[in-house]
Formats: sequence, C-alpha cells, structure tokens
Amino acid sequence: MSNHGIFDTVIRGGRIVTLSDVADGDIGILDGVIAAIEAPGSLTATAKTIDVSGKIVFPGLIDCHCHFRGWEDYGLASRMAAAAGLTTIIPFAITDTENGESLPDAIDRHRAQLEGSTVLDVAFHFQLGADPRILEGIPAAIKGGVRSFKMFMAYKTRRPPVMVGDEFILRAMDLAGANGGLIQLHCENGEVIYYLERQFQAEGRVKPTDFPDAAPPWVEGDAVQRAITLAKTSGCPTYIVHLSTQVGLQAISRARADGERIWTETCPQYLLLAAEDHEKWGPLLKIGPPLRPVNGPDREALWSGLESGVISCIGSDHSPHPKEIKELGWDNIFDQAGGAPVPYGAPSIETLAQLVYSKGVGERALPLPYVARVLSENPARIFGLYPRKGVIQVGSDADFTIVDPDQKTRITEDSLLGKAGYTPYEGWEMDGAITMSLLRGEVLMENGQVVGNPGYGRFLECGPPVDPV
Ligand SMILES: [Zn+2]
Repeated sequence: MSNHGIFDTVIRGGRIVTLSDVADGDIGILDGVIAAIEAPGSLTATAKTIDVSGKIVFPGLIDCHCHFRGWEDYGLASRMAAAAGLTTIIPFAITDTENGESLPDAIDRHRAQLEGSTVLDVAFHFQLGADPRILEGIPAAIKGGVRSFKMFMAYKTRRPPVMVGDEFILRAMDLAGANGGLIQLHCENGEVIYYLERQFQAEGRVKPTDFPDAAPPWVEGDAVQRAITLAKTSGCPTYIVHLSTQVGLQAISRARADGERIWTETCPQYLLLAAEDHEKWGPLLKIGPPLRPVNGPDREALWSGLESGVISCIGSDHSPHPKEIKELGWDNIFDQAGGAPVPYGAPSIETLAQLVYSKGVGERALPLPYVARVLSENPARIFGLYPRKGVIQVGSDADFTIVDPDQKTRITEDSLLGKAGYTPYEGWEMDGAITMSLLRGEVLMENGQVVGNPGYGRFLECGPPVDPV
C-alpha cells in the first residue's frame, strides 16, 4: 500500500527478505522508520535514494551473544559489529560483584559507558554470577529494560565464582519468570568437567588437542536435560546458549515438541570448526563448550537443527582475551602456573554475519529467509525487541543489512578491528559480501567502513520474550 507519502530516504530495487517471502521492491523511510514497501521504482525520496538493485536487503542483523568485558570498550565493540554488517548487538554485561554492585546500578553504569560512544543499538543481558544477593535486583533490572539473565552450570574454578547449582537457578527462574524475563544457561556439567580436568592433568594429558575430550558431548547433554527440568519446574522461558552437540539438540527437540518454552542458539564455530583445529590454533581455540570432532555427528546435527527451526538463533559468542594469556595454554591447556584457568573464548563477532550468509546460503543453498530468521527475527523476538527490530515491515525501525551476492571476499585479520589479533577463519574465501547497513534510516556502514557517528546508537529497553518462529 502506497501512502504516496514523503520519504527522507528510499532504498531502491533490492531483493527484500522477510521470513515468508523474497521480493524486489522499494523501501520508503521516514524519520528512521519504515514507512512504505512498494514495487521497484515506485517511491521517491526528498533527501536520498540508495540504489541496491541486484543486492539482498535483510532486516538489520543482530548478534545476541557477545562478550567484550571492557577490554574492547563499547565504542570499539560497536564499530567492530557495525563494520561486520550488524545493526544491533546484545552483549553480556556483568556486575561488579566484589564491590556489591546491584543489577540496577550495573545497568546505569553500562548505559553511561555506552551512550555517547556506540554507533549501533545495544540491549543487554546480564551474567548473574554466584552470589545470591544479586538475585534481589532482577525485578528492578527488568523494569530498567534488561530481561535476560545468564548463569553457568560449569566453570567450577573461576573467580569470582560463577558456577551455580539447581536451587540457585530455580530462584533466579522464579524471579525472572514472574516479572516477564527469561533465563539463559551455559549447559555443561561442571562437576564432571572438574573431575576430568584433574584426571587429565594427573595423567599429563594437557596439550591443547586434549582439551575437547575433557568436556565431552554427554556432559552438555546432561546439563541441557537438567536445564529443561528446571525450566519445567519453574515455568520460566529458558534459552540455552551456544549449543554444540546432537545429544543436547535431541533433548531440546523433545522438550519443544512437549510445548516447553525452551529455546536455543548455536555459533559459527560449532558449525564450521572442529576439535582437530587445535592442532593448528592450539590454545587460541580454547572455548566452552569445546569444538567437536570433525567426523562426529554434532556439526551436521546443528545444521539440520537450524533448518528445522529447533535452533532459533546464531550468536557469535565473541569473547577474546589477550593473546599472550591465551598462549600460556600451549604448555597446559587447563590451568596457568598459579592455578587460574587459561581463559575460555575466541574472537568471532566480526566474522559472524559473513559466515552465516556465505556458508549457509552460498555453500549449503539454504533459503535467504534462514539468515533473516536466525540473525534477526528470532533474536529480536526472544529478547523482546520485536517488531521494532528483526523484520522489514511498515512501522519497524529502518535497519537493514545489505549483501551483494555476486562479490567474493576473503577473511583476514588485517581487516578486523578487534583486539584479539587473530581469526580462526584466516584466509577463508566467502561467497557474497556485506556491502552496506543502515540503522534507523541512516547509513551505518558502507563497503566495510563505519560511517555512523558515535552516540547515534541507543540503549534498547527489552520487552517480554516472544516465541521464536
Ligand atoms: Zn558466552
């Protein structure tokens, strides 16, 4: 329906992707919002026309799982994400538990760091840690626009402590569920991993290539099953982060068939990398859960879980650490000399969207709406940003990620902005190139260059979770 209106900006002639359809059209933008979607060539702009004929227009892509920890501050983090074609990120914020900071105070602190520096829109999840006092702040945090709270079922030796037991998780679920929030769980059985790591160390099995076997697939499967039990007990919507195994997927699939509000994501590294990559990259690929064997069932299971819709989202789990600390793990992949664990995590936000598009659409011939579903609409629904974000429809924010399917690109560390200093995808050839993005009607990135202004990005208050499609 044309309103024959006045548009500031028109995105002309692109292949517009929604979950149900891919069709050529013009998008008219007024005051940062999508005001019309019409046949190609039918809309005119007062200020700016961007011709994207032959290119694919996705709703603005979202990374719903990333960690920066202040090492990459919000200004840098937002530029990294924007350069990579994203328009919204949902990083994990943490509280200063050692100084007794409450969740509402932490929201204020993170917002202050964000506002004025971010080029793109940002919502937060919180990591709760293991101090029960933090739970008191959940209702106020939800009023302040943060509705997703993550806990760890693993990492027994991390300090300050993060691993929590079932009763703690249930208390958090009760508070989040009653107030319209949701719980995110890192699902691995931390007691079994603690036992195996000690056993491996006693036996001298401490090389990077030994690492994946100390957290085998059934350790995730067990914790996923327990997460489902807790979700069912509490009734709280529950999101299982970074799923890496077939056994976990099967449990989630059964729970979803039973009507439970159990949702999950996977990450490019579990789809594309394998345990054997430790031979080349050593400790730089120490991530939790670990990479799975190249000939095992897990990677193909995750691809089919994405196709079937049991897996709703793909997040990056971007979580880099200084290379020199990671590289201590060449000698002992588990613990540094003083006993602290060699940190988990690798860089990945700057390769997320390119890999999801290229490997899914280019290599596996998945339909274009798959990208819109796993990197935009479902993250927006689950984390309460829909329909403002996540969809190309009249009334939604004019956020777009534009891909030229005919270009080829190559991933190289030289072109990345983050501090990690490496990418495990070095030299990978990519089908298609993300050439432009817009955020609320303004060009955010063009040909890999961030042109949006620091401070244009906003803090997003999340609404209640909406079931994914
Ligand atoms: Zn994570």
